[in-house]
Amino acid sequence: MTIITIAIDGFSSCGKSTLAKALAQKLHYNYIDTGAMYRCVTLYALRHGFIDKKQNIEERKLITVLPMINVDFIFNAHKKTSETYLNGENVEHEIRGMEVSNNVSKVSAIHEVREKMVALQREMGKNKAVVLDGRDIGTNVFPNAELKIFMTADNDIRARRRMDEYTAHGQFFTLEEVKLNLHKRDYADSHRKENPLTRAKDAIILDNTDLTKEEQLEFVLKLIADMQLTKDRVE
Ligand code: C5P
Repeated sequence: MTIITIAIDGFSSCGKSTLAKALAQKLHYNYIDTGAMYRCVTLYALRHGFIDKKQNIEERKLITVLPMINVDFIFNAHKKTSETYLNGENVEHEIRGMEVSNNVSKVSAIHEVREKMVALQREMGKNKAVVLDGRDIGTNVFPNAELKIFMTADNDIRARRRMDEYTAHGQFFTLEEVKLNLHKRDYADSHRKENPLTRAKDAIILDNTDLTKEEQLEFVLKLIADMQLTKDRVE
């Protein structure tokens, strides 16, 4: 079976990472959570006081310390998934908090931040056999990815799923608070100057509003199997 690159883009909380993880596990591919990378930079900026309560960012200071920010993914055999490390510290839990979520879109819009993260993502994925999820994977990071998926889902469903995730992690927010965060992030991510969230022309739309996790996985595995058949016929 040919080894490929799978790019999954889409709005916030559409289930991109759930699908990407399931695919990576099934295909024995690496999984790269590019959102986690921008979240790490945001966490670093918050911890170092580069972002104030009004969400103003000291961009120059953040840009200066970018070389000191290292992000890695390390596979946790027990949990059967990779976890995010910021300068050697496991921050998988902390980067998912609301404070990071409220500031990440602004941080990810900074040119130098994107430049560094995109270079890292290309390096991590250069040997293929990889699933990446994010906002600009199919349009910018790996525009030649063999399979591109653009995910979307009903707004209320997305907010509810994200709220349940917060609750499972002991963080309690109202549905309205979660909805507002998702709306603001989607707007900022889709309207920023550099590599905004858009569907690549050759991306296949997957609306998972009414689909189970298993159905989504099946849908993508079928696409891969069909691609393989077409390729075998051409060769
Ligand atoms: O996917 P996740 O919700 O964790 O992403 C967090 C944020 O990181 C997004 O809202 C977006 O601002 C930024 N991001 C990005 N480009 C990517 C992945 C994420 O700008 N490829």
